[in-house]
Amino acid sequence: MTKSAKKKIFINSDIICDSIVCDCEVDTIHPVKGVTKNIIRLYPKDYKHCYAYKNGKELVSTNADGATLGRAVLPDLLAIKDNKTIKKFIERHGYPFPFEPSEDNSLESEALFSFIHRLEATVNLMTALGEGGDDYRKILALTLYLLLTPQTSIEFTNDWEPFCSCYHEMGYIWNNLNEVDERILCQEDETYNIEEGCYVEDRVRPERTFLDASEYNEAINYGNFDRQSMKNIATYLFRNANKVDYHCRLAIDFLFHFSRDVGDILKYDYKGELIFRESNPSADIRFKDGLDEQLKQALVALAKHTLKAEFEWDLDGIRPSYNTQTMAPAWHIDYLLSGIYFSLFNIEAKNEQYRICAKPTCGRYFLTKADSTKQKYCSYNCSNATAQNVHRRKVKEQQVRGKEE
Ligand SMILES: [Zn+2]
Repeated sequence: MTKSAKKKIFINSDIICDSIVCDCEVDTIHPVKGVTKNIIRLYPKDYKHCYAYKNGKELVSTNADGATLGRAVLPDLLAIKDNKTIKKFIERHGYPFPFEPSEDNSLESEALFSFIHRLEATVNLMTALGEGGDDYRKILALTLYLLLTPQTSIEFTNDWEPFCSCYHEMGYIWNNLNEVDERILCQEDETYNIEEGCYVEDRVRPERTFLDASEYNEAINYGNFDRQSMKNIATYLFRNANKVDYHCRLAIDFLFHFSRDVGDILKYDYKGELIFRESNPSADIRFKDGLDEQLKQALVALAKHTLKAEFEWDLDGIRPSYNTQTMAPAWHIDYLLSGIYFSLFNIEAKNEQYRICAKPTCGRYFLTKADSTKQKYCSYNCSNATAQNVHRRKVKEQQVRGKEE
């Protein structure tokens, strides 16, 4: 199939989206002294929003006749920062998650942010991998964020089934070490020597690696280990978790070798920041020297697989549908977030990417070509305003200099 034919499918297809138009209020409540909660209340109306895929990629709102292409949904969702922007988004695009209106349509806003951050990490990871994929520090931070952040869910106060974020086996066992049981733990085998150690089958440094008993015991401290240390957890799982899927095991092997050869990680976030436990810069230097080809390859494979898992989880709400009126293909989107992941899914990371607008007071994501003619601003307005600011500053500086002379 040619490229243009592939695009055509999305451009000409109808989109039937279950994004119900809602009024929205966000209340701040204090259920107990010292505790603050933000509650989103949705007031659904009896009609739905209309959407289209602009150029086959970006999900944008349209008028009911489909004629006017409106605002792109993904940048609006990622622009949500507080109660005010939650209200603005929902009133403009509808509630982005599965939603069956009932008498009480209220929910806590906290969970909403974990989904937004997850989407932002996915967008940033696509960009990092598309940009030649050699910013390993960023790729690592974003992959860890997606893999290891505990699975979250959104619950309404009614008894609707909660909506969950992507499940990763690695994240599950990482966050539930106490429950890690015989299902994934290896049986004591004859090769294990309590005095010396054992050989462990290894996917990063094949075929196997010898784990010294003293190194293992130091890490797990006879069961009382410090779980703030990524190195300790990775060492424990490296020795014990062998009944897990291939990519989960690859992640364990990678983290074991990474924390051993490069450094123990303290923090990572959805923006791509990574901080080592050691405050001195030696770990940063080691990042350059210690990250060898085997670690790089394993990391990129993990990052790509993590993206795949996120996409496939969230595309669950999209299905082909047949429009009986036009007798043409259509897509049914069960909830808006799924439509957004479908728009990302259609991007070819080598050719296009999302960037953040260079105007500091804007910071909006926008889709642009991934070539050398990198667009810096999200819109003409932002680029124009920045140019005017620069001009005004120059004039002012000249005036000041003129007075001084
Ligand atoms: Zn902008």
